[in-house]
Amino acid sequence: MGVEKELEPQETTKIAAACPDCGAKLTIDPKTGAVLWHESKQAPKENRSIKEMMADLAQKQKDAQERVEREKEVLKDQSRILEERVKEALKRVDKDAPPPARPIDLD
Ligand SMILES: [Zn+2]
Repeated sequence: MGVEKELEPQETTKIAAACPDCGAKLTIDPKTGAVLWHESKQAPKENRSIKEMMADLAQKQKDAQERVEREKEVLKDQSRILEERVKEALKRVDKDAPPPARPIDLD
């Protein structure tokens, strides 16, 4: 019984608190106030996130390429729209006023 009483206080006199900076679990020595253990929540995730970071980078690169392709398609569509507008405008100009639209030199 005596041995158990001596071991209990050493194991239970640690204070568990949350780090105000990063929210990590802190194990504090109540006598000195020193941080005995700083269990960061980010550390274990960083090891896993390396793979996740690689996957995220790959996805970001794919997304960037898709965006570039979409922008190219949009530019193509815009150029087509501009050409169609010019054609429609020229057609209407020809219908409304054919003489000024055609250069005299060709005749
Ligand atoms: Zn911290």
